[in-house]
Amino acid sequence: MSTPANRDQRLELCRGDITRCRVDAIVNAANQTLLGGGGVDGAIHRAAGPELLAECRRLQGCRTGEAKITRGYRLPASYVIHTVGPVWHGGNQGEKELLQACYRHSLLLAAEHRLTSIAFPAISTGVYRFPPSLAAELALEAVRDTLPRTPTITRVIFVCFNAETYRIYERLLADCR
Ligand code: ADP
Repeated sequence: MSTPANRDQRLELCRGDITRCRVDAIVNAANQTLLGGGGVDGAIHRAAGPELLAECRRLQGCRTGEAKITRGYRLPASYVIHTVGPVWHGGNQGEKELLQACYRHSLLLAAEHRLTSIAFPAISTGVYRFPPSLAAELALEAVRDTLPRTPTITRVIFVCFNAETYRIYERLLADCR
């Protein structure tokens, strides 16, 4: 992983609450209903206001690994990209591929809408119990592999809500810079 070819100035790390990010799109770690939940999903719905839920109701859910886009309403971000991460069941049920599909589909959807900046939470690492180090490695790999296909995107921010996640990303990004 630590070859100069992996250097990418488009990747950024930030500690804090994704609902405060002023970017074109923040990514929501949603569930298949897209009707809100706990964790980052609940925080995004609270900050965006009830108009977000109203738009989500019209989307008729989302499959695991896929992504759908809405407006951001009262958020500083213009759009929310809702993706559904896999629940961790030990790693033999396609969890890794599905997690990478979340990052890939979110980026491709952002590019389809000509967006330039996108912020991701650590998808699946909360209630869905994905091991945080493995999730971060897979996230970075998926983003790096997809960026060549998304030329409008100039900033990808990994937003870490807790210190452990931040340290993991810091180490992985440092290894590759
Ligand atoms: P999942 O169901 O995909 O596991 P969670 O929301 O439970 O989703 O957790 C995903 C990650 O989002 C966790 O690392 C959690 O700490 C983080 N998180 C929770 N709230 C926020 C927030 N407001 N901003 C950014 N990340 C958050």
